[in-house]
Amino acid sequence: MNDIDRAARHHRLTEADHRHLWHPFTQMQDWLAEEPLIVDAAEGVYLVDTLGNRYLDGVSSLWCNVHGHRVPEIDRAIEAQLGKVAHTTLLGLASTASIECAEELSRHLPPGLTRIFYSDAGATAVEIALKMAYQHHQLRGDTARSEFVALHGGYHGDTIGSVSLGGIDLFHRIFKPLLFDVHHAPQPYCYRCPLAKDPATCRMACADEVERIFEARPGKIAALVLEPLMQGADGMIAQPPGYVRRMREICDRHGALLVTDEVATGWGRTGTTFAVEQEGVLPDILTMAKGLTGGYLPLAATVTTERVFESFLGSYADKKTFFHGHTFCGNPLACAAATASMRLFTERNILAGLPAKISAFARALEPAAALPHVGEIRRRGFMTGLELVRDRGTKEEYPYALRVGDRVTLEARRRGAILRPLGNVVVLMPPLAMTEAELARLAGIAAESIAAVTEAL
Ligand SMILES: *Cc1c(COP(=O)(O)O)cnc(C)c1O
Repeated sequence: MNDIDRAARHHRLTEADHRHLWHPFTQMQDWLAEEPLIVDAAEGVYLVDTLGNRYLDGVSSLWCNVHGHRVPEIDRAIEAQLGKVAHTTLLGLASTASIECAEELSRHLPPGLTRIFYSDAGATAVEIALKMAYQHHQLRGDTARSEFVALHGGYHGDTIGSVSLGGIDLFHRIFKPLLFDVHHAPQPYCYRCPLAKDPATCRMACADEVERIFEARPGKIAALVLEPLMQGADGMIAQPPGYVRRMREICDRHGALLVTDEVATGWGRTGTTFAVEQEGVLPDILTMAKGLTGGYLPLAATVTTERVFESFLGSYADKKTFFHGHTFCGNPLACAAATASMRLFTERNILAGLPAKISAFARALEPAAALPHVGEIRRRGFMTGLELVRDRGTKEEYPYALRVGDRVTLEARRRGAILRPLGNVVVLMPPLAMTEAELARLAGIAAESIAAVTEAL
């Protein structure tokens, strides 16, 4: 296609987008006034737009992509599955692809997590965890355990149950009258400690606050739900070492289940297959989605222990059944993609290669850390947040209306990388497949873009 044809096609698609679409998490008034970047194709860790420009996929197409795009092994697995069946149900029937996917998944799970309940999004995986935890206690006769504890700044998806757990005011406050009550504990946000403590001496006072909620509600709490190691959507809020272990101990002391939401942290993103491994913690329920299919297709899983599973066993007439399901639970195409992606972890020995990449990435981010308006860099493996501040000494925030994060994203595009900010936090979440050279280029583009925007303000 020549440049004139490309431009005409881009123009036509832009008009159609502006006429028909409503984009997620997007102020459409701004969107309609701006020229969109339209992704047309991808190659490895690069996205290609309708005008033929190439960009590093710096946020893994929203925290999903693992091995890059158009991976021959995953493409072939989907094609092979298409030649058999695209969809069949798990309600009352089994399917080859969902069985093989579960078998492969069980090889990667922390030992003790054995039962896999499929769905199709992170939010549904969390809804399932909520209902599973609640019904588990009900079926065991612990009927007063109907309440949940979660963290301020938590994000668990956009359905009403997951929004109830969520703790991000900007997203969740307006829906408050629709939500059920959840006890929200102060988040472990050491850079801006909600308890105004010093991390060097606080002995994790924020964890004590979690325990206080349990102590005040004896026998009432069904489960504690949290994103382990890193709260993603609130701006990459990294937890101090030992925090998740403390949460496990609190749940054990008070007879509640621990639910870890690994929708973002799962599949190598923090350096291990699952984040809980780094804390030596076995949750009662673990949710995953984004990276499960290598970022190819919507597939989620809520996995649990035999102990929870067994609570639901009984005769047909006992009505202990878990009455929950989604039409596309265990969709065969998505399962085939997931199986292929998980096998690549083994075949390519991906985890063994991560420490070198992670330290190279950390080194490449050092110049960004030295910039006068970068208040803090938070990293766990590949998950990275650079918090921009107006004043480093006072940690004064940039006002929301300045759209500092958005401006950095636009600068990064001009330099050849796709980013997506969270307020004043610039997020980098590269695919595990990026080479050290590509990681260095991504870090360099982020630093240059931050410098260009903050120097001009
Ligand atoms: C993205 C995310 C979700 C929601 O997943 P969807 O597939 O968008 O519904 C839930 N929990 C965490 C931790 C996430 O990062």
